[in-house]
Amino acid sequence: MAEVDVAIVGAGLAGLTAARRLIRAGRRVTVLEARNRVGGRVLSVPTDDGPVVECGAEFVGPTQNRILALADEFEVATARTFDTGRNVYHRGGKLRRYHAAGPLGPIPPDIGAVEAAAAMLTLNRMARAMPVGAPWRHRHARRLDAQSVQEWINKRSFTPGARFLLSVAMSAALSAHPAEVSLLYWLNYIAAAGDENHPGTVQRLASTTGGAQESVLVGGAQRIPDAMAAELGERVRLGVAVRAVEQAGDTATVVADQLTVRARRVVVAMSPALSSTIVFTPTLPAARLQLAQRMPMGSVGKALAVYARPFWRARGLTGQAVSDQGPVDVTFDGTPPDTTAGVLVGFVSAEHMRRLDGADEDLVRAECLGSFVRYFGAAAATPTAFVLQRWDREQWSRGGPTGIAGPGTLSTLGPALREPCGLTHWAGAETADYWTGYMDGAVRSGERVADEVDAALG
Ligand SMILES: Cc1cc2nc3c(=O)[nH]c(=O)nc-3n(C[C@H](O)[C@H](O)[C@H](O)COP(=O)(O)OP(=O)(O)OC[C@H]3O[C@@H](n4cnc5c(N)ncnc54)[C@H](O)[C@@H]3O)c2cc1C
Repeated sequence: MAEVDVAIVGAGLAGLTAARRLIRAGRRVTVLEARNRVGGRVLSVPTDDGPVVECGAEFVGPTQNRILALADEFEVATARTFDTGRNVYHRGGKLRRYHAAGPLGPIPPDIGAVEAAAAMLTLNRMARAMPVGAPWRHRHARRLDAQSVQEWINKRSFTPGARFLLSVAMSAALSAHPAEVSLLYWLNYIAAAGDENHPGTVQRLASTTGGAQESVLVGGAQRIPDAMAAELGERVRLGVAVRAVEQAGDTATVVADQLTVRARRVVVAMSPALSSTIVFTPTLPAARLQLAQRMPMGSVGKALAVYARPFWRARGLTGQAVSDQGPVDVTFDGTPPDTTAGVLVGFVSAEHMRRLDGADEDLVRAECLGSFVRYFGAAAATPTAFVLQRWDREQWSRGGPTGIAGPGTLSTLGPALREPCGLTHWAGAETADYWTGYMDGAVRSGERVADEVDAALG
C-alpha cells in the first residue's frame, strides 16, 4: 500500500495542476487516473496522414490567463481561429451569410436580433451583480434560481428569432437546452467569463475574435496535460479507477483498481456528476450527495471533418455556422495554422446528441456531413477523414462540456460544491470561480485546491 500526503483522483487539467502545485509545496503526491491517458475532457487525436483534431476542449481566449500561462510555460503556441469573411446563419430552413463584425457584432441579422441584443445587455448587467463563483450568495439567489433560462427568454422576448438567438447563445456554451438550466447558473456562467479586472459578458463567451473561441493551441490542447504528466512522472498512475474512499481518523484509504493508497488528504478532481460514482465511507454529507445528483453533464458530441484544403475560405466564409436544425448546430474552422489541410469542427449539442446517441456511426457521419454541406456547399460531402466523439458515452466523462445546474440547485446546495468533506477536497472546472466549465477554470480550481490542502496539512 502506497503512502502519500495527498491522493489526487483524476488526471485532467485540475488534478494535474493540483499535483504540480502540491509538489512545489514539498508534499508527496500520487495522481490516480481511470483512463489510460491523461487530459480528461481534453483529447487531441491525430488523423491518418492528416492534422491533429480536437475531440474535446479546443479554444482559448482573452482573460483565460491560467491556461495561457501553462501554454507559455510548456511552449505550446497559440494561433488565431480563422475569422475572416462571413458566418452562416441557418434558421427555419433559410440560410443567410453575414459579417460578424457588423453593427450587432456576433449576433446574426435575424428578425429579433435587436431584441436579442438588448436582452443580452440585460444578462450582462445582471451578471455583473453576481458574486462570481458563489451565485448562492446573490441577494436574490432563490428568485433567480426559481426559473429556467427558457422561462426568462419567453418572458423577455417575443419574436421567434430573438428567442432562438438567446437560446443558442446559451446552448452553444453549455450544450444543454435552456429549459434544463437555471437562470442563476447561467448568470454565474456569464459572470465567470472574465477575470478579476474584466467582468464576464455573453459576448466574450460567444465570440471568436475577442472571445472564448479566439485562439487554438498549436499541435493540440492535449500537449499541455501530456507535458504536465511527463513532469510528474511515476506519480501519475493510469488505468486505475478509484472505487472508494474510506476515511478513519486522520487517514484516508483510497481504493482503486489494483492499487490502494493511504493519504492524509484526498483531492477529487472531476465534475460533481462523476464524483458520485465513488463510494465514500463514512458517507458524505447529504448536501454534497444531492448536489452531485443534481448537476448532470451537458450532452455533446464533436464531428471533425478533414479536407484537402479549407475550401470555404475561398468562398469568403469563416467556417462558422449556427443552425436550429442540426444535428451539427455550431461550427468553427479548425484548420491547422500551416493549412496543410482544412478542418471543419462541428458541435452536436443537447437534444441533437441525445437523438443520435445510439445511432450507428455511419448514420451520424452522414447526418453531420449533411449539416456541413448545407452550410458550406457540396465540397463538404467528401472529407479525407472524419472523426466523431460522443462524450455522453464516455464512462469517465458522461457528457460535456461541463456540469450544469437546473432550477433550485445552486441556491440551496451550491456551497457544497467546494466545501471539503472531512479529508476530501473538491476540484474540477465546475468548482472554479472564473471560467467555470473551461480549461482555464480547471487550472484555477487545481491551484485553489492545492492551496487549500497545503494549508490544511499545516
Ligand atoms: C466537447 C467539449 C468541448 C470543449 N471545448 C472547450 C474549449 O474549447 N475550451 C475550453 O477551455 N474548454 C472546453 N471544454 C471544457 C474543458 O474540456 C473542461 O472544462 C476541462 O478540461 C475540465 O478539466 P477537469 O480536470 O476539471 O475535468 P476532466 O477533464 O473531466 O478530468 C477528470 C479526470 O478524472 C478521471 N476520472 C473520473 N472518474 C475517476 C475515477 N473514479 N477514478 C480515477 N479517475 C477518474 C477522468 O478520466 C478524467 O481524466 C470542452 C469540453 C468538451 C467535452
